[in-house]
Amino acid sequence: MGKYFLYITGCDMNVSDAERVAGILNTHGFQATSDEKEADIIVAFACSVREKAVHKIMGKGNQWRKLNWNDSRKAVNKETRSRVSLQIQAKKPITILTGCILEQDKKKLKEKFDLVFDIKNTKLLSCYLTNLLERNKKQGNKATSYQCDLKNFDDYLSINPQYQSNYSVYVPIMTGCDNFCSYCAVPYTRGREVSRAEKDILDEVRELIKKGYKEITLLGQNVNSYGVNNKFQITNNKQISNSKLQKDKNHNTYYLLHTTKSNSEFVNLLNKIDLLEGDHWLRFYANHPKDFNDELIDFLAKSKHFCRYIHLPLQSGDNTILKKMNRHYTAEQYFEIIKKIKKEIPDCAITTDIIVGFPGETEKQFKNTVKLLEKVSFDMIFISEYSPRSGTVAAEMEDDVSHEEKGRRKKYLNDEVLAKSVLANNKKLVGKKVRVLIYKKVHPANLAGDKNGFFVGKTEGLKDVRIFVEARFIAPEIGEFANIKITKANSWGLEGEIIF
Ligand code: SF4
Repeated sequence: MGKYFLYITGCDMNVSDAERVAGILNTHGFQATSDEKEADIIVAFACSVREKAVHKIMGKGNQWRKLNWNDSRKAVNKETRSRVSLQIQAKKPITILTGCILEQDKKKLKEKFDLVFDIKNTKLLSCYLTNLLERNKKQGNKATSYQCDLKNFDDYLSINPQYQSNYSVYVPIMTGCDNFCSYCAVPYTRGREVSRAEKDILDEVRELIKKGYKEITLLGQNVNSYGVNNKFQITNNKQISNSKLQKDKNHNTYYLLHTTKSNSEFVNLLNKIDLLEGDHWLRFYANHPKDFNDELIDFLAKSKHFCRYIHLPLQSGDNTILKKMNRHYTAEQYFEIIKKIKKEIPDCAITTDIIVGFPGETEKQFKNTVKLLEKVSFDMIFISEYSPRSGTVAAEMEDDVSHEEKGRRKKYLNDEVLAKSVLANNKKLVGKKVRVLIYKKVHPANLAGDKNGFFVGKTEGLKDVRIFVEARFIAPEIGEFANIKITKANSWGLEGEIIF
């Protein structure tokens, strides 16, 4: 049996896509390995969010091209070598690239990898592997070309995934994005929004609940616009979006005229999933504030299984910057949504994303972000320093905030805003009883000073809780829920004890 190694960069969508690619590889008789040196096939998942990530993938491609089984497999035992050479008669591993790839990067990347394909064409991989294994059987050569008709490979989300965990899982409900935020390459790499058929999603979630999964996260670039414009089918060669682009004279930007007034389709889907019986948590992301409406908040307040947790990317608290980012909401509108969430779901944890040093961001505009962050008091803020991504509208703007200044702004948000709000929110939980999902055990041997070791669980709000269990008590199981009393709050998380 041949082996495959998955190299995943970027966001959770790539993690979820990798499970579908692994599903295909398993069907063709390959087995996963965590050691790239013993892989017959290496599949890399690219991320185009930053230029740096693309350079990294290129570097990896070069490195893997140089992997020669005669040299690099010295450490691999004889049995493995002969087994592998029976499977694929090649001197090097076959390297494959998919994920988020910009058209302009594809040409360069094709020189580094044996096969490059768009993630929506993942079913093509099955055809490629069939060709490859057939050729090897007949000729004993590595297949460098394949004959697969792209038209036959649609709907990659219907591929059976090979899940990486047996208690926490992603279920993609849509892919692509129509929002064209000026700094983001996703609409160009993944294409326009396409929603997965409701029946397929419900079948997958039902099956996962039956198997005992405890945490199911519905995933997409912009889940709130699930089902908008009746985009229910994935097709490769047609663009199925009713959206229109408009040129903005001020910023020379193509703005999307979005027509989303309601996300009933999304709420309708969540409602059907929520009605499925079982002892599990449900989550969803990523969200976009422009589509996060009252209907959704009202539903979440009443839902049975959806966690009291919302990740709502703000990106900037300044209206001029938000406009340049093409985000389609103002700081005031964002705060109105937060007020409504806090009123309807008081115990809800709220997290966000911020980009510091966007082109033209002045100190005053940065301070507007600080003010809004302080007003909201987030449970977590994921802060990134702006870096231009070629091919996007923002990349044509002058990247005029210095590297040092971006670093200073990020540090300020981390130290002066985030640490304070997290600690204040965590302190409110001390003495309270919460339910956590245990996901890690830290053995005493791995700790410098603490001799006892501990378990780590996450709350509905994705806060880590360290749980110290005395030897005389029954230890909790990884992948199971446990009831905890919070005993201590820190800015990195919480500490607690099990309620027996
Ligand atoms: S909403 Fe904006 S940031 Fe998110 S994927 Fe779409 S274009 Fe990118």
